Amino acid sequence: MSNFYQAEVLSVHHWTDRLFSFTTTREASFRYQSGQFAMIGLDVDGKPLMRAYSMVSPHYEETLEFLSIKVQDGPLTSRLQNIKVGDSILVGRKASGTLLSQNLLPGKRLYLLGTGTGLAPFMSIAHDPDIYEQYEKVILVHGCRHIHELAYQERISNDLFKHEFLGEMVTDRLIYFPTVTREPFKNQGRIPDLLQSEEFFEKLGVPAFNVEEDRFMLCGSPAMLKDTVAVLEAQGLTEGNMSHPGHYVIERAFVDK
Ligand SMILES: Cc1cc2nc3c(=O)[nH]c(=O)nc-3n(C[C@H](O)[C@H](O)[C@H](O)COP(=O)(O)OP(=O)(O)OC[C@H]3O[C@@H](n4cnc5c(N)ncnc54)[C@H](O)[C@@H]3O)c2cc1C
Repeated sequence: MSNFYQAEVLSVHHWTDRLFSFTTTREASFRYQSGQFAMIGLDVDGKPLMRAYSMVSPHYEETLEFLSIKVQDGPLTSRLQNIKVGDSILVGRKASGTLLSQNLLPGKRLYLLGTGTGLAPFMSIAHDPDIYEQYEKVILVHGCRHIHELAYQERISNDLFKHEFLGEMVTDRLIYFPTVTREPFKNQGRIPDLLQSEEFFEKLGVPAFNVEEDRFMLCGSPAMLKDTVAVLEAQGLTEGNMSHPGHYVIERAFVDK
């Protein structure tokens, strides 16, 4: 059996000239946990051209959803950005990733800190009922440069709270905090700076940084990860993994080449 299967594109949405999302069919045998990523791609000149992508869709959804950057000279996304309904993409059969609650020590509050397409795995986690059974508060922070890059704002701040099955659960537990760095907005600032400001925790309405109670999942650019990890480690937090759960886990939103 091939490592990849063909999935049919069901919808495409262009958020900006740098960002789009799309849904595809899902093979029933393709299993993953919310927060994980898989290899997806296109057949180019008879060869699979694959890249890592986090699933936006939660593990129980019958279709798959992805949020993608458009890199104009990027080998994959210069092509992928042109996909249309009915086209085929390749999806790897194996999912992996570290953004899993079993890699974290028990806690009261879970911070999901994402920048850019780093929101993708947290969309999946924020739509997973299991996470609300484990934490009193789930705080989803999405950082971008500009307001129009804050993908899925409406789905998070409106649809999720009205969701037939999740609505009641998220009402008291989910806090959504979109923030931008390059223009005036209700929330402004980079994630590492926010974590060091009292105003951030006051706005959220939660106690300030607390090693015993706060857990973190990070997904962003290499610079965001480096700076945020420095803030967390200065507070005595340790990274978790499959064999040793910790206070935080990280996933790269992309690799700088
Ligand atoms: C674990 C993991 C999960 C990922 N999940 C996603 C995802 O959900 N959505 C997604 O769009 N990409 C994601 N990526 C990045 C993705 O694998 C590709 O790099 C991206 O699709 C661009 O592919 P490309 O072939 O066009 O360009 P590449 O040659 O892969 O990248 C060219 C350059 O573009 C920049 N770049 C690449 N991806 C991004 C990005 N997402 N945001 C900003 N700049 C970027 C980097 O500077 C990179 O060096 C993930 C990467 C990793 C390692």
